[in-house]
Amino acid sequence: MTTVGVLALQGDVREHVAVLTACGVDAGPVRRPGELAAVDGLVLPGGESTTIVRLARSFGLLDLLRDRIKDGLPVYGSCAGMILLADRVDDGGSPLEETFGGIDMAVRRNAFGRQVDSFEQDVDMLGLPGGPVHAVFIRAPWVQDIGPDVTALGRVSSTAPNGAAGRIVAVRQGNLLATSFHPELTADGRIHAYFCDMVRNTAA
Ligand code: GLN
Repeated sequence: MTTVGVLALQGDVREHVAVLTACGVDAGPVRRPGELAAVDGLVLPGGESTTIVRLARSFGLLDLLRDRIKDGLPVYGSCAGMILLADRVDDGGSPLEETFGGIDMAVRRNAFGRQVDSFEQDVDMLGLPGGPVHAVFIRAPWVQDIGPDVTALGRVSSTAPNGAAGRIVAVRQGNLLATSFHPELTADGRIHAYFCDMVRNTAA
């Protein structure tokens, strides 16, 4: 069976494990290098990107993560996870010196504003049948710019707050998928299902 791990250093791990399990994969938390080496795909959950990077280093996962991403491991990053997959971070606040990297993009942390500016909006996703996804943004990043190999899968509409109209909030580059928002907090499992298909196609 296809195995999809959820990086379990900090953040909303359980919610991702539940949605992945509903997609029919063998899902579980990943904390140790041995667990990371064994998965066919990995989810980077929301949380605090600075904390997750620090813990990844102290758990001895940082270099292995980077190597597995370079070798083509399918990875889906949500919110803080999106930041961790970005090659470049345009930081509005506390510094984040390094990420795991992999997607040729710059993201802006806390771009939509503070916690109180968290909001929800329907977002049309390229390649995802069944209508827009209901996107929950919690101190979310947006994508500032993307390189030529990155596909913008979704953007927020003109009603988004803080000058966010039209900003990119979902991207894919090869086996790497990232969203600014948190599909694991809604009843809509389509983004996880899309990711599980990416993992199955790679593992096959
Ligand atoms: N603001 C957080 C960060 O910069 C991300 C928030 C989230 O994952 N919900 O890491």
